[in-house]
Amino acid sequence: MKQLVIGVDLGGTNTRLGLVDLSSQILARARFRTRPELGPAQSMEILAQAIRRLKGQREILGVGIGVAGLLDHNKGILHIPPNLPGWEGAPIKAMLSAMLDTRVEVLNDVNALALGELYFGVAKGYKDVLCITLGTGVGGAIIANGKLLLGANQVAGELGHTVVKPNGPRCRCGQHGCLESLVGSARIVRLVQQGLRRSPDQGKQILKLAHYDPDRITPKLVARAARLGDPLATQILRQVGSWIGLALVNAVHLLDPELIVIGGGIARAGPILIKAIRETVGDRLLKFPGRRLEIKLSRLGDDAAILGAASLLYHR
Ligand SMILES: [Zn+2]
Repeated sequence: MKQLVIGVDLGGTNTRLGLVDLSSQILARARFRTRPELGPAQSMEILAQAIRRLKGQREILGVGIGVAGLLDHNKGILHIPPNLPGWEGAPIKAMLSAMLDTRVEVLNDVNALALGELYFGVAKGYKDVLCITLGTGVGGAIIANGKLLLGANQVAGELGHTVVKPNGPRCRCGQHGCLESLVGSARIVRLVQQGLRRSPDQGKQILKLAHYDPDRITPKLVARAARLGDPLATQILRQVGSWIGLALVNAVHLLDPELIVIGGGIARAGPILIKAIRETVGDRLLKFPGRRLEIKLSRLGDDAAILGAASLLYHR
């Protein structure tokens, strides 16, 4: 009989799940809108129902869940889930495990993505890997000597809150100048809106893509405008790339990874952003003959977290 597990990517907007076999094939998928306002108990009941439907009569080894935010990986308790307001302290591992009468493992979503890429994706065959995800927030994960590095409080890898500009904008964590405050989705949109007020000529493509309504600008549109050669979009993505590069240089000097994997929505902004990141890292990195450091884009996309979460059931 095939051994099967369920991998879940529990996001603030959508919950995605997959029935995964041990060769990492996703045999069946499901997704539904996450409704954080229902609270953890009702939401876990909805997730349990989706899992029962997905597995049908098949036996599973257990369920792995990737979820954004700071959490206790062993106990499966959420400390600070930024996308799930009101869920602080929710013991989602114990809740779901009791509902389904099966083993449940929980980990941070960026850690899940890193494991997915390590076992099945772009980081396969590497041992020392740094992952960064770019989106509403900025996340990070560290693989050291082939294993996730969790740290004393199991919250290692918070690249988004490394400080790259001490007097920079206020971050949602309350501090100033965190990487996330400089390159998160909201910041990118704000930079473009400010740029448009200063010199509308520079951002004609963005404005057109946003149907001439600055409130409809999204990072995705900025990326598209940059690909079309829009000067404002290009300039802002370069600036964003150099901030990200700066944070990565600090992390590389600390951890000496052989590979950096870049994931998340904004990572799809394409060559302009990646080039700016590579240039900053290249300029500032301590150099010596034979130094190994590659930078690659995540390959598995949205599936990385599902596969990584599922892998907890058979790699632990
Ligand atoms: Zn912060």
